[in-house]
Amino acid sequence: MRYKTKDIGDEGVDIRVAVTEAWLKAECPELDMRPSDGGITLSGRLERAGDEYLLRGVLSGGLLTQCVRCLEPATLALDVPVTLTFAEHEEPWIEEEDEDTEEDVIYFSDGVIDVGPEIRDELLLALPMGPLCREDCAGICPTCGANRNLTPCDCAERPAGRVKFAVLAKVKL
Ligand SMILES: [Zn+2]
Ligand SMILES: [Zn+2]
Repeated sequence: MRYKTKDIGDEGVDIRVAVTEAWLKAECPELDMRPSDGGITLSGRLERAGDEYLLRGVLSGGLLTQCVRCLEPATLALDVPVTLTFAEHEEPWIEEEDEDTEEDVIYFSDGVIDVGPEIRDELLLALPMGPLCREDCAGICPTCGANRNLTPCDCAERPAGRVKFAVLAKVKL
């Protein structure tokens, strides 16, 4: 995920970075996720723009995770436009506000741009707080424990007392 500025030159380079399961595990250990079958790719172009380097691309693919409502697998589709500005700096750890433009500049040193940390940030930003297997997932019934996507139940609609009564009524029949 590293690019040397001497390779970028004045022409710029096409970039295509695959996010692997191993990378995701190492870089985002807090995420219990892996790339879906099609994988995740950052594709775009890295070009020189004056003293800076501009990356324009798209982070696309899918992440496999777990639905927060029904706990079944859920796939998060990613299609995130990414625009990043890099600038060489002898002391890249010093954060400086770019006063001309209000955009964030990412500093690098020794002529090497590493897009890895930026991919991690973009991924984390793109994730919803509570991933769902589908928008209208019915979730798990807190009363009977059924996955309501597969086994609709009417527990929630009835007060607890009436449920018991209904069960008794069935038994008598
Ligand atoms: Zn679900
Ligand atoms: Zn139920």
